[in-house]
Amino acid sequence: MRPLFTIKKTKGNGRGVFALTDIKKGRHVIRCDLTKLKTYSLEKLKKHPQRRSDHWDEAGRGKWVLDFSPASYVNHSCDPNCLTKYYTLKKKDIVARRDIKSGEEMTVDYSTGAIYGFNKKSHITAGAGIMKCRCNSKKCRKIITDDFFELPKGLQREYFKNLPPSIKRKFVKRPKR
Ligand SMILES: [Zn+2]
Repeated sequence: MRPLFTIKKTKGNGRGVFALTDIKKGRHVIRCDLTKLKTYSLEKLKKHPQRRSDHWDEAGRGKWVLDFSPASYVNHSCDPNCLTKYYTLKKKDIVARRDIKSGEEMTVDYSTGAIYGFNKKSHITAGAGIMKCRCNSKKCRKIITDDFFELPKGLQREYFKNLPPSIKRKFVKRPKR
């Protein structure tokens, strides 16, 4: 079967993931499994020889992994064409949020998984921090928040459906705030 995507250089945003074929909304594009990866505290990760903050991924409260799988090359957009659908915090699929044309860069919203930023204490000690956004979408929020509950309410409602069941149970009332 023809591969669905390739990893190549973007204009000014490092490497990214690009569709090699038209992809229909709802299609599962990339599987991401962090279960086999070694976990680190954020402190340890910051000292890791291969530290590259664009490849950090949260794999539990205060637990981080360094991921260099294809999923880790998907760049952020504030109006992404893909969604992250979680089964657990460590197992997820990247799914087309709308129809994607061949050649288009595939993007997700990095704030989707920022579910431990809600607690201002963990925000300081466990969060990777807020990043400046240069996604150039009309809906750009200028910063990539590390607090899921700071996202616009419409996005919270949309992304919440795809969070891991353990997190959904915990925060079931939050997006309606
Ligand atoms: Zn943006």
